[in-house]
Amino acid sequence: MTHYPDFKMVAEQLVQTARWASRMGWAPATSTNYSVRLPDDAAPAYCAITSSGVDKGTIEVEHILAVDQHGRPIDADRLKPSAETPLHLLLYRTMGAGAVLHTHSLPAALLSQLARDEGRILLSGWELLKGLSGIDTHEVEISLPVFPNSQNMQALSTRVERSLSRERSCYGFLLAGHGLYAWGKDIPEAKRHLEVFEYLLQCQREVTLHGHPANTR
Ligand SMILES: [Zn+2]
Repeated sequence: MTHYPDFKMVAEQLVQTARWASRMGWAPATSTNYSVRLPDDAAPAYCAITSSGVDKGTIEVEHILAVDQHGRPIDADRLKPSAETPLHLLLYRTMGAGAVLHTHSLPAALLSQLARDEGRILLSGWELLKGLSGIDTHEVEISLPVFPNSQNMQALSTRVERSLSRERSCYGFLLAGHGLYAWGKDIPEAKRHLEVFEYLLQCQREVTLHGHPANTR
């Protein structure tokens, strides 16, 4: 464990967040990962992240480790950081995120697969869009980027970083057939953004399944 004195408190917050996502049905099998940026005085520890291959319904503080800015574990010989750590790191680097939450919900996997060729899902007309920071009306159009899935995390994170650095305000993206990444300045904001996107993807899935054109473009 890192020398950072508040690490256990941060780890506990991540555990509670991961268990919440599991209860919501967004973390099947041992999938999904969650992280929070550590303050600069925790260096070389850069962020705390869930370890690979853990059931998020029963995750414990012992399953959280610190990694440096290259994703290398800090004093955590037993634990392996999530394979998707490079994607978390790019969001801290490029988007100014303070916490990153990644889920594998059914609507996220399904709709991103359907939107793979368009490269984005447009969300507009929904009241809950106001749950995203900086949005105060439903009369807005939010573009949720969709990237092709890949097992080559370094190549994927380079591609995502190049694309997201051109976005103005953006709090989420999808990997096709895989899941959703959402982030915020801290864990509460990231949770709110995640919940907004998951809810709106559920709305969008209902509209897609039932063919009703309302609120879609
Ligand atoms: Zn994943």
